[in-house]
Amino acid sequence: MGKKLDIIIIVDVEATCWSESPPPGQENEIIEIGICTLDIATGKRLEKESILVKPERSTVSEFCTQLTTLTQAQVDTGISFAEACAMLKQKYLSHQRVWASYGDYDRRQFERQCQSRQISYPFGTRHINVKTLFAIVHGLSIEVGMDEALQLLNLPLEGTHHRGGDDAWNIAAIFSELLLKRPIQK
Ligand code: AMP
Ligand code: MG
Repeated sequence: MGKKLDIIIIVDVEATCWSESPPPGQENEIIEIGICTLDIATGKRLEKESILVKPERSTVSEFCTQLTTLTQAQVDTGISFAEACAMLKQKYLSHQRVWASYGDYDRRQFERQCQSRQISYPFGTRHINVKTLFAIVHGLSIEVGMDEALQLLNLPLEGTHHRGGDDAWNIAAIFSELLLKRPIQK
């Protein structure tokens, strides 16, 4: 299976959450997978999608709705996590492509959830942490949050922060800015 370098898949997940640790018997589970594809040749954002995922071992708390705007009724219309992983592979060829997220949370949550449910991990090994890359490229002494990175670039935060699709779209704008600074002439 070939490794493609045509687009980068930017992923941002939202998960069930509480102000403290999960209540007894519940665990953090992915409820939204936001995806934005970024064309490597042009640095342009191509498509944005939000996949809602129905949680199986937890429910959406009031705290979680406050943070993400997502309600239990909304995620009840979602597909299963297994179906979402299959879709990433089929539609986005996620196992053949480079994927990226802001920080390491999204990658670790996918790993944890695939492992605990014996679901095949939908990605390959080529993950880029945009948060770290942004700080390194701009010579920052510490990593900054997505909203601060957008401010530093004078870019607007489009859509609703903490919604996967909008977060992925905004992270793609940050990555695009890094991508277009190409010092090496080909
Ligand atoms: P984000 O991509 O920043 O919207 O965060 C992804 C997920 O991390 C959220 O859906 C929550 O599950 C969790 N999360 C983010 N911020 C918080 C917070 N302040 N308290 C609890 N969980 C959080
Ligand atoms: Mg998010």
